[in-house]
Amino acid sequence: MTVRKPLGKDMAGFKPANSNTRLSIGGVSSHAIAPSQPIQSQNLGLNSERSRLAMVQRLRQHGISNENVLNAMASVLRHAFVDQGLASRAYEDAALPIGHSQTISQPWVVARMLSALCDGRQIPLKVLEIGTGCGYQAAVMNQLFNQVFTIERIRALYDIGREHLQKQGYRQVRSFFGDGMLGWPTHAPFDGIVVAAAGLAIPQALLDQLALKGRLIAPEGSNNQHLVLIERVSPTQWKREVLEAVRFVPLLSGVQR
Ligand code: SAH
Repeated sequence: MTVRKPLGKDMAGFKPANSNTRLSIGGVSSHAIAPSQPIQSQNLGLNSERSRLAMVQRLRQHGISNENVLNAMASVLRHAFVDQGLASRAYEDAALPIGHSQTISQPWVVARMLSALCDGRQIPLKVLEIGTGCGYQAAVMNQLFNQVFTIERIRALYDIGREHLQKQGYRQVRSFFGDGMLGWPTHAPFDGIVVAAAGLAIPQALLDQLALKGRLIAPEGSNNQHLVLIERVSPTQWKREVLEAVRFVPLLSGVQR
């Protein structure tokens, strides 16, 4: 298996070997951007709808088959969640820097994680994300789930993520500034939990906040990371499955103001 060379310590996800097709964005115009989008987005000169559909097509080719997830990915303007200077690369299957040594996860990784929560069962209703970052994944989750809660530990990113979600109209997403390793007990239990940063082990507080039959997906490890899918099968038992190799930024405790 070959994996794409990491860009640095803040690279947020590898994809499997068979997924080396690149999307080329060229000869573009802004007509596909809905008038309700902020002026900044309209001026990007991106045919963003075409680029998004190409991104979804590539996700299909690389094994993502959950139509709800694909539709959700098709509906969120990823370019509106990254810096203007990176917007032309927003629909590549790449992790992109979002400042503070963090990255927005690559689309394939977002789609893989959300599919793992949904596949073979009823779509979970109430889902928690650890690591809001720029807010992109929370926006995709908003398109899939009834209730979305998200926690970020870096104050500046918490503010940016919240602003993006508000501006893009995802106002029902509930954001919290704090240490996501502790979960969000007030709103527990959750039918699903998505962790967007890699720890050496899954925090017990998160396992405890899973509803019965609820699923958690998280990257685990330091240099050698894998996605881990956990399902709560009884009040005291969790079933665990190890999925693909990935690379995420670290899950850290405490907050950064
Ligand atoms: N889902 C994000 C990905 C952001 S990268 C997006 O779509 O942009 C991972 C994020 O996890 C970073 O913003 C990092 O600050 C955050 N993070 C790391 N440890 C955390 C913790 N204990 N609690 C909350 N957020 C955490």
